Amino acid sequence: MELQTSLLKVKGIGAKKYEALNKLGIFTVYDLLTYYPRTYEDRRVLTPLAEVVVGEQQAVTGVIRHIVERRTGRGIHILSVDIDDGTGFLQVTFFQQKFLKGRLKAGLRLFAVGKIEYAFGGHGKKQMRQIKDFSLLEKDGAANLGILPVYAASGSLNQKFFRTLFTTVCKEIQEIAEILPESICQRYRLVARDEAYRQVHFPESPDALHLARERLIFEELYLIQCGLLLLRRESRQKKKGVRHLGESRLSREVCAALPFQLTEDQTKAWHDVRQDMELPVPMRRLLQGDVGSGKTAVALLALVKTVENGFQGAFMAPTEILARQHFDTFRRLLDGLSVRLLLLTGRLTKKEREAAYKAIEAHEADIVIGTHALIQENVTFSALGLVVTDEQHRFGVEQRAALEKRAQLTPDLLVMTATPIPRTMTLTVYGDLDVSRIERLPPGRVPVATFLRTPDRRDRIYRFVLQEIARGRQAYIVCPLVEQSDMLDLPSAQEVYDELRAGVFREVRCGLVHGKLAKNEKETVMADFHAGKIDVLITTTVIEVGVDVPNASIMTIENAERFGLAQLHQLRGRVGRGAHRSYCILISSTHTETAKKRLSLLESVNDGFVLAEEDLKLRGPGQFFGAMQHGLPDLKMADALRDVDILLKARRAALETMENSAMRKKVAEILRLEYKDFFTKITDV
Ligand code: ADP
Ligand code: MG
Repeated sequence: MELQTSLLKVKGIGAKKYEALNKLGIFTVYDLLTYYPRTYEDRRVLTPLAEVVVGEQQAVTGVIRHIVERRTGRGIHILSVDIDDGTGFLQVTFFQQKFLKGRLKAGLRLFAVGKIEYAFGGHGKKQMRQIKDFSLLEKDGAANLGILPVYAASGSLNQKFFRTLFTTVCKEIQEIAEILPESICQRYRLVARDEAYRQVHFPESPDALHLARERLIFEELYLIQCGLLLLRRESRQKKKGVRHLGESRLSREVCAALPFQLTEDQTKAWHDVRQDMELPVPMRRLLQGDVGSGKTAVALLALVKTVENGFQGAFMAPTEILARQHFDTFRRLLDGLSVRLLLLTGRLTKKEREAAYKAIEAHEADIVIGTHALIQENVTFSALGLVVTDEQHRFGVEQRAALEKRAQLTPDLLVMTATPIPRTMTLTVYGDLDVSRIERLPPGRVPVATFLRTPDRRDRIYRFVLQEIARGRQAYIVCPLVEQSDMLDLPSAQEVYDELRAGVFREVRCGLVHGKLAKNEKETVMADFHAGKIDVLITTTVIEVGVDVPNASIMTIENAERFGLAQLHQLRGRVGRGAHRSYCILISSTHTETAKKRLSLLESVNDGFVLAEEDLKLRGPGQFFGAMQHGLPDLKMADALRDVDILLKARRAALETMENSAMRKKVAEILRLEYKDFFTKITDV
């Protein structure tokens, strides 16, 4: 029997069972071996019979002394077995299992897991019923009670079926060949693959299980990391990148014109970017930094660098408002310098747009700032040297690729995001990008004062909002998205708007934005808010990304418990952008302690990455993967959060592997077999 042997050829598997297994994605012996146990049952932890506790599920064993068979008046068949373990006796009762009669024999050892209850009319006598699992062993068979695998069973594929099948397969399969390079196995002290598969299904001891799991998790993460690195390698080798030269006058002038000094983190990030840009291979770098950490300055320097090398730069923002904001900032900072800026948005008239396209094609524009309109078919750059995308998660991977196709030389790519993806997730999700992080905010920022309040305080909160408005400030009232299908009784932003405008905020100017507004309407309201024509903006999370209204100093968030911590942090990043002291008030009626604790973290923690890690712990990695729209293989055994240490080791090992051409080839071959859907594109190693 080999790994690729079809399970149809395995004893005990007929067409029906095979079909049922197929539904779980299991066709071959190998598929079966990677159907890992969900958990384990440690049968070494037995409760002495004298100490069983009523109402609990326990595992016991004892020698069978006495068997009674009877039927109730209603015809239910009962087998009562008295077992003895030296500390005491226990009656184990089987209902409707007549076939057991021939197998249960005095003198054999019975192992059973079940619930302990008082025997019916037994005067305080204890009994085990609701038997979940049992087996019969020789009298001295206690030593055989090990750690048993528990599989995700369904229907006819029950625990017994899986355990029997695995026993057969483990017995009959030839030694499972090692696939990892020997040097990696040695350096990272991995147990052999054969050993790992056997131990993970039938562990000899907790230690052996631990080592087996570690090995398999490592293997999984290592292979994916190798795949990502090979992809990156391939794109670097196949594509000819733009080689930028060292700095000259223009860059220095822009640096000097910045109204501030770069922070240490910004300097480091800029250094990374600059180095990448000066290499002949295309840059593929992710710049992560919390809201307000100053990513734009780094982008500006990079764009200027491409311009002074005779290329054009493209800067893509997720919304028109943000594009305009960047345009204004750049115009200010590049004032008096010979850099031609162009703003390209969906708002241009047809004629204006055509003129813009022409200017881009004729290289009459050096830096083009725009929304996704930038990557539409008819935009052709004459010499695109660098693409910067801001808030990347609003741009799909495909859109980025489309932009790359716009030029003969692959332009450098700088992806900026304020989504605080935890470090470990970055590796799994962006294993093919290099990462720079701006961790600390520029000096002098006053954190947004954050408070968690119950809804009965709303009147006072709104009075406070009115005070701020009287001081000339503006406010956001954020409501969670309410879907039609939502069974929860939450008011929609529209309802909140109607109520507040007629009520407490009747004397100030209110505005409303939500996702269902037409794009134009939304942009108009946002522009009015930006221009100070609206005092209170009632909104859903559409304002989450990058909006910059420095005069807004207060935000309230309704039903705060419905948001993730990282998202709340992003939201509150909309205030505290100016010189004014700013406030974020989380309103929640939640009564659960964990939810309260989670939310109150925002009162004391101001670091988006810490909050994201916390989210990850509480809510699991799904949301991050989901948000990234990134096609990666599902992890079978590894868990990006729990297995951080192994992930980092695997990444290191993968980087080592890339250095050696023989190892690269070997791994590429394995990837083609193991991850057919993901890494088949790797051809050239
Ligand atoms: P984000 O990373 O969210 O895009 P921005 O680049 O918009 O952040 O920067 C936020 C604000 O911080 C801007 O007003 C910018 O002028 C300011 N800023 C950026 N870098 C520094 C710095 N080194 N010192 C002081 N202020 C800075
Ligand atoms: Mg920004």
